[in-house]
Amino acid sequence: MQVARDAVVLLHYTLTNDAGEVLDSSEGAEPLAYLHGGGNIVVGLEEALEGKVAGDKLSVAVPAEKAYGAHDASLIQQVPKRAFQGIGEVKAGMRFTAQTEQGPRQVVVSRVVGDMITVDGNHPLAGQALNFKVEITDVRAATDEELTHGHVHGPGGHPHG
Ligand code: ZN
Repeated sequence: MQVARDAVVLLHYTLTNDAGEVLDSSEGAEPLAYLHGGGNIVVGLEEALEGKVAGDKLSVAVPAEKAYGAHDASLIQQVPKRAFQGIGEVKAGMRFTAQTEQGPRQVVVSRVVGDMITVDGNHPLAGQALNFKVEITDVRAATDEELTHGHVHGPGGHPHG
């Protein structure tokens, strides 16, 4: 069958940035399984896979806007060190969940200068074009249970009993 809304797609992938660095890959592991049409993978890749079948290999260049979005300078904020009370020494690279008006958001400490800490709420891949090399290994219909849950069960899927 073809990749379409509510199909379960299994694929192997290698993700590189424009510098050619490998950011992620399923090589040597189970293929990734995802439920198509639910926004479970980046939208640019989902669009490119529409209508494809098992055995298809493709290279997809996804612009930042169709991956993790443009880098948003307003998500970079200065926070006084006292806001991190009880955490001990705060260092660049540490990750926290910040409570924001839009709900919890993952932030990373990008800089520590004196008593001011810079946190960045952008996705680590925001502002980056992504290049996917993909091989589709299987396409099947989702079960009713998978559709209810919004994710794939079984090999490569969501690990819950
Ligand atoms: Zn489930």
